[in-house]
Amino acid sequence: MAALMTLDEERDQGDPVAIMDLHRRDVSPEQLRRFEEYAAEMFSAFGMDLDSTATADTPRRFVRALFDATEGYEGDPKLLTVFETECRGGPDCRLSQIIEGPIPFYALCEHHALPFHGQAYVGYIAHERIIGISKLTRLVRLFARRFTVQERVGQQIADALDKMLAPHGVAVYLEAHHLCTQMRGVHETSSLTRTTFWRGEYDQNAALRSEFFVACGLHR
Ligand SMILES: [Zn+2]
Ligand SMILES: [Zn+2]
Repeated sequence: MAALMTLDEERDQGDPVAIMDLHRRDVSPEQLRRFEEYAAEMFSAFGMDLDSTATADTPRRFVRALFDATEGYEGDPKLLTVFETECRGGPDCRLSQIIEGPIPFYALCEHHALPFHGQAYVGYIAHERIIGISKLTRLVRLFARRFTVQERVGQQIADALDKMLAPHGVAVYLEAHHLCTQMRGVHETSSLTRTTFWRGEYDQNAALRSEFFVACGLHR
């Protein structure tokens, strides 16, 4: 029987601000106006005609879009609900996977501030706590909507699930296109960067890992 966690139980899961690595962002309207001026100066120097009706507002839209695309630092209160379940031990508990994917995500690479985007697949083997399936999507977005790298997004998803649910295992697979390498110079390519992260049972059990890939439709 699922039940909402009490405050005491929630505290046992650790500090959500630390687990989710949150940073409160205080950006004043004056700062935003200055950022729009910087963007306008750069766009214009790089060749954009800012005098047309289509582009007059582009610096403001650009700053706003960048701010929204990195809102993952602010957290997601809807992520905090975790449900109690029963662990009866045995193979069901050690081997039954809960898998969600593909979960589309968009992130900004911290080296170029350009997008990398792709799909995430997240799996875990529940012990005494489960999380709503839609929360896995929220968790991916929480860490993706930042200035980051693909490796860190995967690690943060795996570690956060590990701390929030104390499950028997966590599996995270990410595949993404990195625009910073794909849209510049002669390096244009459509190759995918793939990363995997394993915690708990997945770490020791190769059969579990292949089952995860098969269940994701990735046919390994
Ligand atoms: Zn980059
Ligand atoms: Zn268990």
